[in-house]
Amino acid sequence: MRGESPGPPSLLDVPGLYDMGRAELAGLLPGEPDYRMRQVWDGLYRRGLHPREMTDLPLPLRRALDDRLQPMLAEEARRTSADGRTVKWLWRLPDGPGLESVLMLYRDRATVCVSSQAGCAMRCVFCATGQAGFDRQLSAGEIIEQVMTALRAARPRRLSHVVFMGMGEPLANFDAVWAAVERLHDDVGLSARHLTLSTVGVVPGIHRVAEARLPVNLAVSLHAANDTLRDELVPLNRRYPLDVLARACADYVAATRRRLSFEWACIDGVNDRRADAVELAAYARPLGAHVNLIPLNPTPGYAVRGTPRRRVLELRAELAELGVNATVRATRGVEIDAACGQLAATGPDVRGAGGRGPGPPPVERAPVAVTPVGLDWRHGTDNPSA
Ligand code: SAH
Repeated sequence: MRGESPGPPSLLDVPGLYDMGRAELAGLLPGEPDYRMRQVWDGLYRRGLHPREMTDLPLPLRRALDDRLQPMLAEEARRTSADGRTVKWLWRLPDGPGLESVLMLYRDRATVCVSSQAGCAMRCVFCATGQAGFDRQLSAGEIIEQVMTALRAARPRRLSHVVFMGMGEPLANFDAVWAAVERLHDDVGLSARHLTLSTVGVVPGIHRVAEARLPVNLAVSLHAANDTLRDELVPLNRRYPLDVLARACADYVAATRRRLSFEWACIDGVNDRRADAVELAAYARPLGAHVNLIPLNPTPGYAVRGTPRRRVLELRAELAELGVNATVRATRGVEIDAACGQLAATGPDVRGAGGRGPGPPPVERAPVAVTPVGLDWRHGTDNPSA
């Protein structure tokens, strides 16, 4: 996985809008005074502007930048939930792969959920991205571009939080993800405490997060607290089993003093019994971890159901009794296939005629008719950590 996967194609020699470092950008501004560089940099990162919108620059310079700085993400489709609070983009990369990002609007702020890879190689059985497979790594700029689009779309709300919970395994694309994290913090001005990396348990990556300069949040997608079941649900567990994972988590907690969280997709009859709660509590308690219970969202390739809501609430209570804090994550965007585990870059409407390939023109506020039976979780508690 790490190192073996193809990166962004080098044949595309034009660097993306957000892939340029300061030195490269300065190279595009020969003979210009220093403050021009700062203007462009601020335009890109503070204001989320495209060079052609930087009206404080002289027109010839604006044009020159416009020719040289190309956005990498082409909007192929955009869907908005019926209540207008969740927006999902399907982006097409210049070399073909698709990826998705999801914007969640709250009253006066917003969270964006970004992809770190086009596709995913982890093959978790219940996840639509895992079912579809891996295309390629994303560059730091391709990750940042997702955030900047969301930042603009969220206005007048402030985009305050970024969660790396879209397509892909962030810690299997560590360098690009970390470069994006640093730029989001240093240049966009987001707080490290509002950046969350979610991993299925790539242990070397967790150690690197523990040692890193910025104390970002770490969420570990656990789903099972015994190796037999976890091997089945999350194939990476065969490489980094639970005891090894627990040591890496302890390292993260000790080094950063941040609270760790575990994601637990509740699957009917699979990991939602009292015995599962007991195992989970025994695993989470020594690490002081918080548990996010996510009712399983439907995906085409996994024929089981999410745990009924009543039982999810009982699980939360059982965990509390066992000394573990848990919250039930409100799932946003189920009806536009934008919820956890549903991102598959399959086009504007996987149920309709859209499908893969170049789709119809971008759709805004697509009428939504499909609500998966028994999975209407939109009225739960909003996840406080997101
Ligand atoms: N690869 C990283 C980042 C993806 S985050 C990781 O696994 O953590 C996506 C989150 O949604 C993970 O917690 C994942 O386990 C969860 N998820 C995947 N499929 C799901 C589904 N069908 N229903 C609910 N949650 C799901």
